[in-house]
Amino acid sequence: MAFEGLSSRLQNVFGKLRGKGKVSEDDVNEAMREVRLALLEADVNFKVVKDFIAKVKERAIGQELAKSFTPGMVIIDIVNKELTELMGGTNTKLAKANKPPTVILMAGLQGAGKTTSSAKLAKLLLKEKHKPLLIAGDIYRPAAIKQLQVLGEQIGVPVFTMGDQTSPVDIARAGLQQAKDNGHDYVIIDTAGRLHIDEALMNELKQIHETTKPDEVLLIVDAMTGQEAVNVAQSFHSQLELTGVILTKLDGDTRGGAALSVKAVTGCPIKFAATGEKIEPLEPFHPERMASRILG
Ligand code: GDP
Repeated sequence: MAFEGLSSRLQNVFGKLRGKGKVSEDDVNEAMREVRLALLEADVNFKVVKDFIAKVKERAIGQELAKSFTPGMVIIDIVNKELTELMGGTNTKLAKANKPPTVILMAGLQGAGKTTSSAKLAKLLLKEKHKPLLIAGDIYRPAAIKQLQVLGEQIGVPVFTMGDQTSPVDIARAGLQQAKDNGHDYVIIDTAGRLHIDEALMNELKQIHETTKPDEVLLIVDAMTGQEAVNVAQSFHSQLELTGVILTKLDGDTRGGAALSVKAVTGCPIKFAATGEKIEPLEPFHPERMASRILG
């Protein structure tokens, strides 16, 4: 289960504070030291941890804990609020084009879950009574097109493909035209993954971007890869101006670092959280719910 380690460590720290009628400055410092260690161990970016602890302490001092009857609860509440803020405060909704279709470009490293998330996003849009079109733009990974076609068929969403001999830029352009002709209000462009940030493929993404002028550029990152996910997000963001992140594999035993750092480091909101290999509608990411889940 995701965040298990972090969650149980934080619950432990706060368990000690909860029952106390009085909380000394030493108690607060000790608790913050433990929270700091728990966050670092959960693979949260060290600068993010430092800022986080400073903010919590500042708020705690401002709240005059000494006068509170339940100082332990006050601190837990402060940590909850700061954790929520750290992850973006509130849910950030998917952008919508003034004139349909809304174009969503999916980017990310190979294996992050791009194709799976494209289908899950299409399923969510379908559930909301939209008419999405999936575009198979990954012509490099063998079977990527087929994978998207199979998923499309499974959820009842058409998949636009031109095989693997046409350039992804031309595929994206033609797919977008087809979406307009057929009255689709959302277009999801699945693109080629890469093992590492790779200049040729990044240039291709930029060209697709230029051609389709997406309303959303979503980076799919694998939460299991922790800090690496944040580094990847930062590199993509510097080249592509991401509008949001989809965090995948939150069902695994991720330590949580990516979820807690990616917004603070890149400024990009996590818009969706993905769990499981089955194609269920993608779930909008709610920072406040995630914070409460972590704090138990
Ligand atoms: P792509 O290369 O980025 O298109 O990645 P895929 O969509 O093909 O996904 C790579 C692997 O991760 C596949 O085996 C997926 O079933 C799996 N996967 C994708 N998303 C999730 C998720 O949220 N949770 C889990 N457990 N597996 C996932």
